[in-house]
Amino acid sequence: MDDKIITSVSEEELVSGAVFNDDVVLNDEMIAELSFGLGDDEPEEVASSGESEEEDIALGAARYTNSSLVSYTRLSPNNSGQRTHSIDRITPHCVVGQCSVETLGSIFAPRSRQASSNYGIGPDGRVGMYVEEKNRSWCSSSSANDQRAITIECASDTKPPYAFRDNVYKRLIDLCVDICRRNGKKKLLWLGSKEKTLAYSPKSDEMVLTAHKWFADTACPGSWMYSREADLAKQVTARLGGSSSSTTTKPSTSTSFKVGDVVKITGSKYYDGKTTVPSWVKNKQWIVYSVSGSRVVLNRSTDGKSTIMSPFNASSLSKVSAAPTTKKKSNTQIAQEVIDGKWGNGETRKKRLTAAGYDYKTIQSIVNKLLS
Ligand SMILES: [Zn+2]
Repeated sequence: MDDKIITSVSEEELVSGAVFNDDVVLNDEMIAELSFGLGDDEPEEVASSGESEEEDIALGAARYTNSSLVSYTRLSPNNSGQRTHSIDRITPHCVVGQCSVETLGSIFAPRSRQASSNYGIGPDGRVGMYVEEKNRSWCSSSSANDQRAITIECASDTKPPYAFRDNVYKRLIDLCVDICRRNGKKKLLWLGSKEKTLAYSPKSDEMVLTAHKWFADTACPGSWMYSREADLAKQVTARLGGSSSSTTTKPSTSTSFKVGDVVKITGSKYYDGKTTVPSWVKNKQWIVYSVSGSRVVLNRSTDGKSTIMSPFNASSLSKVSAAPTTKKKSNTQIAQEVIDGKWGNGETRKKRLTAAGYDYKTIQSIVNKLLS
């Protein structure tokens, strides 16, 4: 955010400037109407990516999700609707004020403000959302940047170097990890300069950090944050399991999975090495169905809603939780537990049995036998 934006907000505006009452819940139709007709008055920067915009739009908004770290939502009318470029940048900003997520929501609520961000982090570390990830926020004084970036306003001191509190910075790391994961990115990169960054075409699993001050006459994100961009990239990449340096220990692969483990998909291809894994599959966690050398077959999703029965190379999987190491009970024992009501009913029973590595149908047929 720009210094001018915040210093121009009067107490009165914070109280009365809101277009909406906090009690009003915006539905999609209302939001669409709000966005309609709003112009784009920001300077256009020449896009550096050769990616086809049409193809990108054709993929639709369906793949976009929002962060589950959000604890406060107040959608701002100040956005351009759906992005025309997939997400491959993150732009942290400094608010130039220790603004709560609610105050930031009030600042972004009036159309006259002509400013917004996708997310905000308050001084208490809570995360607010003002523009959904699928939509382009008005934050970095660059259409080309905001079309592809997730913008995050972070509570900061009001004076240079506009330092963030510890918990705000920690939360920023959490949020970046979450954004990268949901958008299929394994690395967050800091390339060190505007020139290098704008000339760089990120690979499909790479997210790149950008800075507001590259696009406008502003100090944002402040020298405190700017000097930590490299650290942010390193910490986020380490948590994503990417190889950011030579010191990372290589996880053992082929033999490290067993039936019943819960895993997530870190690679982009199926076992054949050709077919691309769709994002909805990547976004779920899966239960290992069978293992043969480096070939790992996944079947059920942990949410119990999907079945894929697809093979993956062990190197493109990472373990979320191991199957229970305690010796598995016999099917008959489990069937008795089902009768005793220990596994719940209906779908819940099905999910829990599957997640625990038991075959629902087998157990159910034993239950039926015992009861007949
Ligand atoms: Zn900014």
